[in-house]
Amino acid sequence: KGERLRLPPWLKTEIPIGKNYNRLKNTLRDLSLHTVCEEARCPNIGECWGGGEYATATATIMLMGDTCTRGCRFCSVKTARQPPPLDPDEPKNTAKAIAAWGLDYVVLTSVDRDDIADGGAEHFAKTVSSLKERNPNIVVECLTPDFRGDLAAVEKISLSGLDVYAHNVETVRELQRYVRDPRANFDQSLSVLKHAKKAKPSLLTKTSIMLGLGESDQQIINTMTELRAAGVDCLTLGQYMQPTKRHLKVEEYIPPEKFAYWEKVGNDMGFAYTASGPLVRSSYKAGEQS
Ligand code: SF4
Ligand code: SF4
Repeated sequence: KGERLRLPPWLKTEIPIGKNYNRLKNTLRDLSLHTVCEEARCPNIGECWGGGEYATATATIMLMGDTCTRGCRFCSVKTARQPPPLDPDEPKNTAKAIAAWGLDYVVLTSVDRDDIADGGAEHFAKTVSSLKERNPNIVVECLTPDFRGDLAAVEKISLSGLDVYAHNVETVRELQRYVRDPRANFDQSLSVLKHAKKAKPSLLTKTSIMLGLGESDQQIINTMTELRAAGVDCLTLGQYMQPTKRHLKVEEYIPPEKFAYWEKVGNDMGFAYTASGPLVRSSYKAGEQS
């Protein structure tokens, strides 16, 4: 305790920059869209945006502004009680921009907006439906807030035309209070995932866990078991990285072999897809799962 852990060699990556990457970056600037890829300085950006001839180009777009009503202890997004109001044109404009962008797979996510009656579910759903109207072939994943357990909000998104419903439990059951905003909890998140599937059984559901926050192996196994029992199809496990000194410290850097072990555990448990690695993020190579 006290001292910060040193970054192990497998986390020191160089970002490959391709043609496609620059093209996406330039269009983005023109369109004033926010991507998690850039804002979180995601180390996978070259790979995801690169796409290229054989791989799938993926990006994660942030809706509803850059200010969250919550303050999770691992997350570097800005917080305010009353962020600026939603831009009513955002769903339509975002859909238009993404459709023109030539992506194969897009992840739409958002900050939590506890200040809005439906948490922004309608706004999310509108973005998906107008995007699918323009480009029925693009695979759409929504990574949503928990809507404080409002299942009508979850259902609205489930039925909007998306392909993958993602919601992150973030960490094992036992560390929820320590890691996430107090308004979030494991059972509420589990009910979001269950309900998304119930509303539309053909949807794939997906969640993500960060490792290295001090969780035990048994806690990881129990959490994975509960997720599988809730019908969650896809699971990603990645290393937690401390975004700034004010955020939760990394308790442990999990070696790549251990991540490979968790991937095997996930496959053996019957998840349709388990991605596990130090740099795996919720949306990492998302296009290759479908
Ligand atoms: Fe963007 Fe997700 Fe890929 Fe990172 S892993 S670059 S956030 S799509
Ligand atoms: Fe960050 Fe999401 Fe937590 Fe908001 S709810 S602080 S965006 S992790």
